[in-house]
Amino acid sequence: VIELGTPERSVITTCAYCGVGCSFKAELNGDELVRMVPYKHGKANRGHSCVKGRFAYGYAKHKDRILNPMIRDSIDEPWRQVSWEQALGFAAARMRGLQEKHGKKSIGVITSSRCTNEETFLVQKLARGVFGNNNTDTCARVCHSPTGYGLGQTFGTSAGTQDFDSVEHTDVVIVIGANPTDGHPVFASRLKKRLRAGAELIVIDPRRTNLVKSPHIQAAQHLALRPGTNVAVVTALAHVIVTEGLMDETFIRERCDWDEFQVYAEFVSEPRHSPEATELLTGVPAADLRAAARLFATGGNGAIYYGLGVTEHSQGSTTVMGIANLAMLTGNIGRKGVGVNPLRGQNNVQGSCDMGSFPHELPGYRHVKGPEVRAVFEEAWGVEIDPEPGLRIPNMLDAAVEGSFKGLYCQGEDILQSDPDTKHVAAGLAAMECVIVHDLFLNETANYAHVFLPGSTFLEKDGTFTNAERRINRVRKVMAPLNGYADWEVTQLLANAMGAGWTYTHPAQIMDEIAATTPSFAGVDYALLEEKGSIQWPCNEAHPEGTPLMHVDGFVRGKGRFIVTEYVATDEKSGPRFPLLLTTGRILSQYNVGAQTRRTENVVWHDQDVLEIHPHDAEVRGVKQGGWIKLASRSGETTLRAELTDRVSPGVVYTTFHHPDTQANVITTDFSDWATNCPEYKVTAVQVSLSNGP
Ligand code: SF4
Repeated sequence: VIELGTPERSVITTCAYCGVGCSFKAELNGDELVRMVPYKHGKANRGHSCVKGRFAYGYAKHKDRILNPMIRDSIDEPWRQVSWEQALGFAAARMRGLQEKHGKKSIGVITSSRCTNEETFLVQKLARGVFGNNNTDTCARVCHSPTGYGLGQTFGTSAGTQDFDSVEHTDVVIVIGANPTDGHPVFASRLKKRLRAGAELIVIDPRRTNLVKSPHIQAAQHLALRPGTNVAVVTALAHVIVTEGLMDETFIRERCDWDEFQVYAEFVSEPRHSPEATELLTGVPAADLRAAARLFATGGNGAIYYGLGVTEHSQGSTTVMGIANLAMLTGNIGRKGVGVNPLRGQNNVQGSCDMGSFPHELPGYRHVKGPEVRAVFEEAWGVEIDPEPGLRIPNMLDAAVEGSFKGLYCQGEDILQSDPDTKHVAAGLAAMECVIVHDLFLNETANYAHVFLPGSTFLEKDGTFTNAERRINRVRKVMAPLNGYADWEVTQLLANAMGAGWTYTHPAQIMDEIAATTPSFAGVDYALLEEKGSIQWPCNEAHPEGTPLMHVDGFVRGKGRFIVTEYVATDEKSGPRFPLLLTTGRILSQYNVGAQTRRTENVVWHDQDVLEIHPHDAEVRGVKQGGWIKLASRSGETTLRAELTDRVSPGVVYTTFHHPDTQANVITTDFSDWATNCPEYKVTAVQVSLSNGP
């Protein structure tokens, strides 16, 4: 029995884990946070939560947190603890020195989807307004950058089209490349409630996730495709819909570019996209492809939810556009119960993208090449904005290895652990002359840093996060920053040490600046957020109450665009040396590389990652349940315990990547999405053999 007692005070804030964006009441006795209670008025969660938001907050006071700034002249030297003034002066002098010696574009920033909108806005402003270049990128690069590209091309804006409430009006759901039960648990509960009430479900996933079959839920179709063949499956569905005349021609004629549709319809109708031809490529039975296509096209309101199993591929952007094509083809856009919905992984990946942290876009998804857009920020900031797009994270690392990129400010992101091709990331970092890590812990990237600036947790600051349904939620300070400063203050201190002269005293002022410069946020301010609790962008003169459903009367770009989606096989091939295909995912209690959840009591639910392998593949290798195996790819190898299960098909293996010993990115390749460089984490050719353990 847990004695909860009566807290002395409480603060309403937002979970800092996934993109569902659950609201919580943080209850305190004095300055001691005693529990997180799901907030019943939270519009994303309505009183529900999962074990991460509810229990995994102890990392805020974990002994591993670094609370004092540190510097060192080279990465071979030990850290020296210094004052904030000394650390910022050291960092500023080094960064300015690098620019004087190697040019204005020799330094850059990386922001995190863990941070608030206001913090992210300031980091990209640091690059554009203080460094004088567009070398700004975000960890969305490695997760949902294809969403930004794909939905931007087809619909005209890079965001989910409907709100979570809308799922209650859905008749048939496609879940592709997502496992909401573990990744987005509170949304999964709402989805399952709808499925139990009779909605039909099509799961497209190499692995039999919990959604495929769980108590009272049975997917009508599970298309267990070979990893890397999403585009072929989505195109085959379109083939059936077009060739059988199941499309919504009225919607297409009224809302979409008809000429582009005709080109697309001709393309998908080709026999090479038939279910029979596609079965050979993907391993999905032709009859199942036909049945799924017919169900989605004729089953009533159709909604598509997708995750990183769509985006983290060499054709991630193509699959996103294919999904958008399917929604337009069937008229499933612009009303309740339909739409295209990226399930955002991190708490603020939507906001991180909205705030202009990509090297080619200013806040609000506007290209830096546009003189009228640059003029808005030039006037607001009193600087000249570089019209040339800057470097993406992988380009920064390449340029560092080549010798032209020398300095990096990295806020809240452990690129050495989370980005692909660990050896290349390490080489890039090692080649830089000033790496500033701004984080909670001395992470792997900090091994290559010259300056460490202590970060603050979501409990220690004010700001906003934007969830997967474009809902801007308030983050409220629950306790004073243990390191003395919230992250937005640290960025301001660094900017001012480099001569900026910023004078923000509260994140509300930063939001006012966002609203003044970004049309989709024009109506947002903290007073409105207090009044409404939360609000979904666009919020402006045309939509003063926010926008739960997008593209209702027309697409943001005008006419919806059908884009031909040609399947191109990934260069990552299985073969005699590496005959199996590895794909990856998460479990409920842990989060990404575990930097936070492993430092909480949630660790009791997961003390190691395991490799799921089909019993047939295990038997031919002599692998036993729970036994140690070596997992090897062309990039590297690691050691795991085996779990024999038919959740994966023969030829496919699966693991999570929460534990540092797993080092999943030693295994993954450096292939990436053709449009955005999002890494192809979801397909790696591997071999499994017996091992004696690590
Ligand atoms: Fe936090 Fe996501 Fe869990 Fe909600 S579902 S409590 S936002 S991790």
